[in-house]
Amino acid sequence: MKRDFSNVGMGTKSLWAGENGLQVKGATQVPIVQSIAFTYDDIDEWQDVALGHKEGHIYSRNTNPTFSSLEEKVRILEGAEAATCFASGMGAISNTIFSLVQPGERIVSVKDTYGGTNQLFREFLPRINIDVALCDTSDGDQIEEEISKGCRMVYLETPTNPTLKVVDIKRMAEAGHRVGALVVTDNTFATPINQKPLLLGSDIVLHSASKFLGGHGDVLGGVVCGPKELVRQIFHYREITGSALDPFAAYLLIRGLKTLQIRVERQNASAMKIARHLEEQSAVASVYYPGLESHPQHEIAKRQMPGGYGGVMSFALKGDFQTVKRFLARLEFAHRAANLGAVETTVGSPATTSHVEVNARDRAAMGIPDALVRYSTGIEDVNDLIADLDQALGALP
Ligand SMILES: *Cc1c(COP(=O)(O)O)cnc(C)c1O
Repeated sequence: MKRDFSNVGMGTKSLWAGENGLQVKGATQVPIVQSIAFTYDDIDEWQDVALGHKEGHIYSRNTNPTFSSLEEKVRILEGAEAATCFASGMGAISNTIFSLVQPGERIVSVKDTYGGTNQLFREFLPRINIDVALCDTSDGDQIEEEISKGCRMVYLETPTNPTLKVVDIKRMAEAGHRVGALVVTDNTFATPINQKPLLLGSDIVLHSASKFLGGHGDVLGGVVCGPKELVRQIFHYREITGSALDPFAAYLLIRGLKTLQIRVERQNASAMKIARHLEEQSAVASVYYPGLESHPQHEIAKRQMPGGYGGVMSFALKGDFQTVKRFLARLEFAHRAANLGAVETTVGSPATTSHVEVNARDRAAMGIPDALVRYSTGIEDVNDLIADLDQALGALP
């Protein structure tokens, strides 16, 4: 629309001048469309878009060009029919569950899901009469048996936090489909570079984009991918309940995703080398990494993670939590933080991160040693990381 600025005030000018045709055609990067709503000069067209008869954007809690671009990128990476994004990984997880499972229905999952997911299962879902059976993560027979009793949803996460247990997605997806359940997989730790849950039979794959997808530890987000009709239901729940992603966050995620493959390939290779090195150190009691032959579910991991085993591992030091504190304090090239999947190496202890609300006795019952360290390998030179780990281990009594 052409506007005449010769007879309008400074206020009007400062609002409208220079913004005509904001679409900068030919820009090489996706624009950050930091706009809540979208304007229409043609009211009929506005109505057509609002009614869904025509493509377009109305309001950014529903859709926005920047986050549509992110959804399309992740959709294609996961090989899905449709995708929708969220303000965080927990937004993606809670919206998926609340939109697809009704009161009175049942979910089968595992004990080792992400802390927030576990809290949903134990605190919030029982309030609305949704029962969740939490199985021993490494006991495939038990999971399959619980599924065979009937359920609306099988909710998987693999590899898990913090002990990197691996669940057989194909086997559990088949078991789920035999009883008519929807199968959902949290693919945050593996990324689509290493593991493709949809190809293994999962109906839905979801991510905390805050970890490897974004990859730089500077932006929260979540994405859900799956068949059109299911994603439409999840999208509809999100557009009403409101955990929409901010356009600037979407831009940062798009930027991070451009280097996903080279980051993850390097993290895979470095983590493998570090895990093997740690296995040989006398100060280390055990190393948990799906790429190691000593890992109890290594054979499953080999089958379902053709791209690699990921950047995250954990290891138990000989000693107790005091030993962990001393060790963590000495590391020079690692953030001591609750994050993972970033370009910088990040370390933490389950006692201060994923399982902070669980007491020492319950952690032991969950198979989480007190002297466990979670290590998310960054893209630093691997020899520097190994030297750093060695000096910190060498200083232990
Ligand atoms: C971090 C994480 C989440 C939660 O994601 P947020 O973006 O922090 O909400 C969910 N699942 C896994 C496996 C995670 O590591």
